[in-house]
Amino acid sequence: MSVVDRQEWDVVVVGAGGAGLRAAIEARERGARTAVICKSLFGKAHTVMAEGGIAAAMGNVNSGDNWQVHFRDTMRGGKFLNQWRMAELHAQEAPERVWELETWGALFDRTEDGRISQRNFGGHEYPRLAHVGDRTGLELIRTLQQKIVALQQEDHAETGDHESRLKVFQECTVTRVLKDGDEVGGVFGYERESGRFFVLEAPAVVIATGGIGKSFKVTSNSWEYTGDGHALALLAGAPLLNMEFVQFHPTGMVWPPSVKGILVTESVRGDGGVLRNSEGKRFMFDYIPDVFKEKYAQSEEEADRWYDDPDHNRRPPELLPRDEVARAINAEVKAGRGSPHGGVFLDVSTRMPAEVVKRRLPSMYHQFKELADVDITAEPMEVGPTCHYVMGGIAVDSDSAAARGVPGLFAAGEVAGGMHGSNRLGGNSLSDLLVFGRRAGLHAAEYARGAGSARPRVDDAQVDAAAAEALRPFSAEGEEPADDPPENPYTLHQELQQTMNDLVGIIRREHEMRQALEKLAELRARARRAGVEGHRQFNPGWHLALDLRNMLLVSECVARAALERTESRGGHTREDHAAMDRAWRNVNLLCTLTDPSGGLAATDAVRGQITLTRETTEPVRPDLLALFEKDELVKYLAEEELYE
Ligand code: FAD
Repeated sequence: MSVVDRQEWDVVVVGAGGAGLRAAIEARERGARTAVICKSLFGKAHTVMAEGGIAAAMGNVNSGDNWQVHFRDTMRGGKFLNQWRMAELHAQEAPERVWELETWGALFDRTEDGRISQRNFGGHEYPRLAHVGDRTGLELIRTLQQKIVALQQEDHAETGDHESRLKVFQECTVTRVLKDGDEVGGVFGYERESGRFFVLEAPAVVIATGGIGKSFKVTSNSWEYTGDGHALALLAGAPLLNMEFVQFHPTGMVWPPSVKGILVTESVRGDGGVLRNSEGKRFMFDYIPDVFKEKYAQSEEEADRWYDDPDHNRRPPELLPRDEVARAINAEVKAGRGSPHGGVFLDVSTRMPAEVVKRRLPSMYHQFKELADVDITAEPMEVGPTCHYVMGGIAVDSDSAAARGVPGLFAAGEVAGGMHGSNRLGGNSLSDLLVFGRRAGLHAAEYARGAGSARPRVDDAQVDAAAAEALRPFSAEGEEPADDPPENPYTLHQELQQTMNDLVGIIRREHEMRQALEKLAELRARARRAGVEGHRQFNPGWHLALDLRNMLLVSECVARAALERTESRGGHTREDHAAMDRAWRNVNLLCTLTDPSGGLAATDAVRGQITLTRETTEPVRPDLLALFEKDELVKYLAEEELYE
């Protein structure tokens, strides 16, 4: 069949965002020959877009902060569905990961006494986000890239080849994880520019491909976030965990239409910005749920005092976790109190001097000036919810980041599930990807070393099947049913995005999700006939046709899990089951890809079926439970957990 370039590596990392780069650095430092593959240019990953900061309990601005408080906040934010061991490791190790970045050259904003400055963010009890203005992700990626170059220079000095132990394959898309029996054997992918296929054989593969936002119409995510890593894991036989939990960030731009969904960072609210409806009312005071009542200010006066005296006042309700704020905005707009373009108003102009806005929020100032012709130092922004982040993901072991069910497969960053439970706190993603990126790299390298000289064997039939699957869009006319015409991948994508936005979006209803599942089944059948013209050299239509497989698989997982979970929790809101139900607290939903006869259909994306199973979560360790007041636990825990 096709001539495919083959190379051998110890560890292959798919994705060069924060998680992928941190994993690659660790694997290389542990002695593994490591390849990194990314869909876009090296340095252009979602992580670059992160604005607010990295959450880490360093206690630089308020010495009351420590890992236990961070752990508590994370569990509360996730409504106790977090894989608690991940939340514990994350809270404990995040400060070290931030300090390490500094030793690698990151330049964070400083406090007056010269320490790394930390800012307030929703759901965090203390100022906790280490930041670089509102361009933190850019600095994070710049630093990790610099570290990679430094390692390559070391390798050059020793071997004469910069890429002998650490190589980046940019603008390459992985379409399959290859297997050697039940274990990982490597990856199959194509170069986006030339269309050439390649295989990297390796005993360990780390998936770090980020999110799924491009399945939704209004999203803060960019073109790469088509759920590839989620689908790669499913197709390789690994389960996805709790895919119903999708975060709608409360503040995306709503106007003009061409930029709808682009993020307005939460630091705007952390630094003093307030939300108002069309009547000028600061409406968030009407939306403080019972579980958070004691922690949030009940009046504007108290909320405003908190910025200067957080020890004697409670925080403003604009800083509730994102799911609460997004639902509140949705309700205001629905009640007819929205802004002219269907959002609400977010105001910093009356809250701080123009030069402070420009200094603390430079990207927001330019974003609104250039894209919407709004001067945020003089008038409010219009904002509304936008699909932002997926809490669900590849089911992993908390300590090693090993994916369940497929030896040699690891996952870290947004693509991995469990860490954030039903809702992620802002800032907890950058810290997550550093903590678990490192752990994934470490354990992947160890796994590869354990494999020793026994290299994986990837048979030609598998490679041929992956190549045939990738080439299918060029001969879509020949597919069954024979007389149906080829489908346009762009049309299919639009229909998918509309379906997910309208029927499995921020507020969900049973009949709509059933409708969505019917539509997704139809789209999956039509996507088999997604056809493209031209050739393999940089052909965006072809790339989209291949991404559609992933978006459709992942969307179906989201819809099926959302239909199954008959409660509202975090990033999953059911109009027909509006309350959080304690009986669901300890239930995980797992999606696998199976064939209709019951076996794993790891090789057939088209005929395989998404199967949903329930599992009981592991009970939270008693010393961690002891960090909470009993009164609070009563609001969350399942009956039997309380009894214990
Ligand atoms: P990403 O950074 O998303 O990188 C994924 C990588 O995988 C890319 O290199 C991509 O090219 C590659 N890839 C994808 N598919 C394939 C494939 N098939 N083959 C090969 N490569 C592939 N979080 C915070 O904690 N703080 C913030 O302030 C913050 N602000 C944000 C602002 C915006 C606008 C957005 C969109 C998100 C923000 N987040 C923030 C969330 C956070 O940025 C992301 O969750 C995080 O960066 C994800 O990192 P990652 O390493 O998992 O993946």
